[in-house]
Amino acid sequence: MNCLSLINTPFKKTKTLVRVDYNVPFNAEGKITDLTRIKESLPTINYILKQGGSIILLSHRGRPNGVKEEKYTLKPCADALATLLHRPVLFAKDCLGEQTKKQIDSLQAEEILLLENLRFYPAEEHPNTDPSFAKTLASYGDIYVNDAFGTAHRKHASTFDLATFFPKKAVAGFLMQKEILALAKLRNHPKLPFHVIIGGAKVSSKIGVLTALTNTMQALYIGGAMAFTFFAALKYSIGDSLYEPDQIETAKKILEECKKKNISLFLPLDVVVSNGTTFKTVDISEGIEKGWQGMDIGKKTIALWKQELIKANSIFWNGPLGVFENPSFAEGTFEIAKFLASLSSERIVGGGDSIAAIDQLHLADKFTHISTGGGASLEFLEKGTLPGIEILSKRNDLVFGS
Ligand code: ADP
Ligand code: MG
Repeated sequence: MNCLSLINTPFKKTKTLVRVDYNVPFNAEGKITDLTRIKESLPTINYILKQGGSIILLSHRGRPNGVKEEKYTLKPCADALATLLHRPVLFAKDCLGEQTKKQIDSLQAEEILLLENLRFYPAEEHPNTDPSFAKTLASYGDIYVNDAFGTAHRKHASTFDLATFFPKKAVAGFLMQKEILALAKLRNHPKLPFHVIIGGAKVSSKIGVLTALTNTMQALYIGGAMAFTFFAALKYSIGDSLYEPDQIETAKKILEECKKKNISLFLPLDVVVSNGTTFKTVDISEGIEKGWQGMDIGKKTIALWKQELIKANSIFWNGPLGVFENPSFAEGTFEIAKFLASLSSERIVGGGDSIAAIDQLHLADKFTHISTGGGASLEFLEKGTLPGIEILSKRNDLVFGS
């Protein structure tokens, strides 16, 4: 990966467009519940300001599907950013329009302006329907910086098309660089033995990364609802557990792949099952009765996985191991999270819900790298790059000032 870096880019007296990912979680009262993504954008913002540039921040929030809806406003993110930076952050109530243009024209050196949610316009997610959207955004600035790793797997106007207007001036931000470095290292040269823990709900959304990582991993642990598709493939009775019948063939292929490549496979030995009113732990070899649903990995599984994980020199984890949103079924996810936090091997986590679990335990700083991208981190590990990275200028193209 040879992206143009901020360090090689002169920002003095420029207006720089910075695509950030402020798609942060909110509670029912409209308060931000996790500032990680905003905090992670600070190094890039501070660097550009220090160089004497001004910044126009671009982001999306949620899925308003091309319609202006106040509940998806980015205004709270402008306020949160101002608090973190200890300086004012201006806000434009629309990302297009005359008023916004005026705000941009009057932007002074070292000032910051955050534009309203890009996804209030359908052309953000569907650039081909209106190429003038990206063109107008491009007209606001002299340099384009992409620091939105979490959205870099999308070919959207602000993450892809916009970069094409800035030949030799489409730059990877510090967060983008940090994510690329950590994930590329894990993908291409993991410290061996390399162990992978995959949980969550859907085999179909993880199949790409699972298949790609079978080339490098020595052990695979499968938890969450995912495990029941594998148990179904192995003809265990899974009762009313969530599983994907149309993924059974895929699960069989992965099982074969593990055998062929000598990968140790750990499916749960025991599972916590619920019938809606009560819960108990059963050994999977006995099978799960009808009327009961697998909700978490059991204690025997947790104990065995800990014994095995300690042998790894690098570990990738994606996907909760049970329905951790319910405290009765959070033990597997929380115990493994706490255990991973106590290790000294390289430990990398990707995936929105897995990270939410780690945050609940306040353990984020105990890991080697916590990716700010869910889908983006999985796609990066699968393919080794993302559209929003590919479109950035290559370092060799650098001709600024020379
Ligand atoms: P991530 O966002 O980390 O990639 P996913 O989105 O794939 O994770 O999956 C998270 C969801 O999987 C959680 O909402 C969790 O409740 C659910 N889940 C985990 N285990 C089970 C299970 N045994 N049955 C049903 N849902 C489960
Ligand atoms: Mg998720």
